[in-house]
Amino acid sequence: MAAAKNNKSRQDQPTSVVTAGAGFLGSHLVELLLERGHRVVILDNLVTGSADNVAHLAGKRHLRFIHQDVTEFIFLGGSVDYVWHFASPASPIDYLELPIQTLKVGSLGTHKALGLAKHKRARFLLASTSEIYGDPLVHPQSEDYWGNVNPIGPRGCYDEAKRFAEAITMAYHREHGIDTRIVRIFNTYGPRMRLNDGRVVPAFISQALQHRPLTVFGDGSQTRSFCYCSDLIEGIYRLMMSDTNQPVNIGNPREMTVLEFAREIIRVTGSRSRIVFKPLPQDDPKQRKPDITRAKKLLGWEPKVILAAGLEKTIAYFRGKVLD
Ligand code: UDP
Repeated sequence: MAAAKNNKSRQDQPTSVVTAGAGFLGSHLVELLLERGHRVVILDNLVTGSADNVAHLAGKRHLRFIHQDVTEFIFLGGSVDYVWHFASPASPIDYLELPIQTLKVGSLGTHKALGLAKHKRARFLLASTSEIYGDPLVHPQSEDYWGNVNPIGPRGCYDEAKRFAEAITMAYHREHGIDTRIVRIFNTYGPRMRLNDGRVVPAFISQALQHRPLTVFGDGSQTRSFCYCSDLIEGIYRLMMSDTNQPVNIGNPREMTVLEFAREIIRVTGSRSRIVFKPLPQDDPKQRKPDITRAKKLLGWEPKVILAAGLEKTIAYFRGKVLD
């Protein structure tokens, strides 16, 4: 396998390229990689990411930041052992606002990132998503479910871009022998989410901290399962270091309704907020919960951070932002 060629540099000090390394998840991954002795190159055009997310790492000897749109040709000197492809708008309001960039980064950007991995004989990991299951008719979702996606709806630009990204990743694996990994990421939360990215965690926490009404969409009976960012990143790291080319779900199987989640946020923030109901966005998945049997079996991974502990850290982060 092509990856074996780089074993020497892997043992010395591996080099990782992280697309969207200044994003929410990318920045947590970059931290973990530096801790585990990697040289890290961040590629980010800062469309939805932010230099603030990695400002505390500035000056680290083994970290390089390159301002780059990954849909353009990626030129990098030196050896690369791992390519972690995270670039994409990832919140429903971001991809509604940036539908073409979302489609381009999932398709052209994944093509370029795979091209880099092929050229460098690096191992490649695609950050895919539970959105490839769409509004799922199978519950909980296991990796062998093919999904229920509306290609022409408002979420189609993200869902189909990620489905294409999985398809081209498998094509590079089969056709070019690239050693690939696919992680399907379920709802994740933690510090460095953007306060105004419209996702339910920053929305509810910022509303609660300001004692404004929490905006529950629909009747709040739709479900989600929230994973704390450090659990997720550990699972993704283990996946990259494993030897499976099959997609693996990483997420927390503790499922709750959005209404229960709103009540929990009010409780833990001690807020005086009430709950208001707003229209449910089109194609909003009614249920979502990962089946993590494969991750447990292949990676020995399962989430450890309970919701109360993860929320405490996330709320502390947002408290600083809301009061800024
Ligand atoms: N949601 C909500 N109020 C908000 C933002 C989101 O009720 O202010 C709901 C949304 O309709 C969805 C769930 O919370 O059912 C999770 O939404 P999010 O945007 O975080 O991501 P999704 O899981 O839909 O990709």
